[in-house]
Amino acid sequence: MSIEIRHISKRFDDFAAVNDVSLNFPDGGLTALLGPSGCGKTTLLRIIAGLEHADSGMVLLDGEDASSRRVRERHVGFVFQHYVLFKHMTVFENIAFGLRVKPRGQRPPERAIHERVTQLLNLVQLGWLANHYPSSLSGGQRQRIALARALAVEPRVLLLDEPFGALDAKVRKDLRRWLRRLHDDLDITSIFVTHDQEEALEVADQVVVMNKGNIEQIGTPADVYNHPASPFVYSFLGNVNLFRGRIHNGVLEAGSASFNIPDHAQADNVQGVGYVRPHDLDVQRYRPGESGIVAQLRHTHAIGPLAQLELVREDNHEIVVAVIPNKQFREMGFKVGESLLVSPHQLRVFVGEAA
Ligand code: ATP
Repeated sequence: MSIEIRHISKRFDDFAAVNDVSLNFPDGGLTALLGPSGCGKTTLLRIIAGLEHADSGMVLLDGEDASSRRVRERHVGFVFQHYVLFKHMTVFENIAFGLRVKPRGQRPPERAIHERVTQLLNLVQLGWLANHYPSSLSGGQRQRIALARALAVEPRVLLLDEPFGALDAKVRKDLRRWLRRLHDDLDITSIFVTHDQEEALEVADQVVVMNKGNIEQIGTPADVYNHPASPFVYSFLGNVNLFRGRIHNGVLEAGSASFNIPDHAQADNVQGVGYVRPHDLDVQRYRPGESGIVAQLRHTHAIGPLAQLELVREDNHEIVVAVIPNKQFREMGFKVGESLLVSPHQLRVFVGEAA
């Protein structure tokens, strides 16, 4: 089922939680609503589900205005961060619950319920837990059962609100890969809310980055990471170094460093900020006369394939973080305390003081 929202706004008293948001969720796609705490992700998800009413705007399900459809009629499955399974029911009965409470005319016969629950238990790969009670399950197993329970009633849309938020890092990673595979098998339109950029970038087909009730950017994970549309997206999606300065005739002058910025050739005598990801910085030993930013190596963290270098600029004492291959770091033999030359091979400049 395709989902479209048009000009949705929602206020809580004076506070604009969602501010004139329009979006398309493609049929069968997995979309991540990503943003910091309080940016309106959950409110938007609840409006789509019909659990919350928008002050204005429209939700269209398969092109039809959903305002007259109640929650049950929207065919939505939910998984929440703290999805409480019924403690007094076995795993099997928890999954069967949504089918058993259907109105008499729509309730499948017992044999069909058994078949469906068994199929779902196999899908989430937890058939062996059918007769267990929730208290004997791990957090990750509970979320998989919660997902099976949401899928039991054959929803046309799956909404997940920080489904793995309460789990530890390793289980989270395993489950998000598992969710991606499951989504591909099921071919169901899914929207999941997360504040974890790594999770969104790894799992989703489409990422919607939100900030203060507004959409900052919509795109594929590669789009939003490699071509952030705003300073907010740049900073939110991973580490970034900022080089603040003034632009004169297409050159950003930031302390003792200057960068050619052909994209802003027309800009003159305005403030600008250069954004550079740590892995987009080249680092070499300082040699007088060579261009770049001179910085002293203060701290290194070189475990695994990458080495992270924390440097202090000599011109303004700001910190710069660079990430280079660990192999290169070892070959160069950089030592804490020595002066290095840092130069960006990719830099994006946003004009204006607010940047
Ligand atoms: P989080 O990741 O922390 O859950 P979120 O991006 O999902 O954040 P929302 O839960 O949508 O954010 O909340 C957006 C804003 O609206 C927050 O400032 C929140 O305090 C406010 N808000 C949400 N629900 C209500 C409510 N029922 N009454 C009053 N304010 C609310």
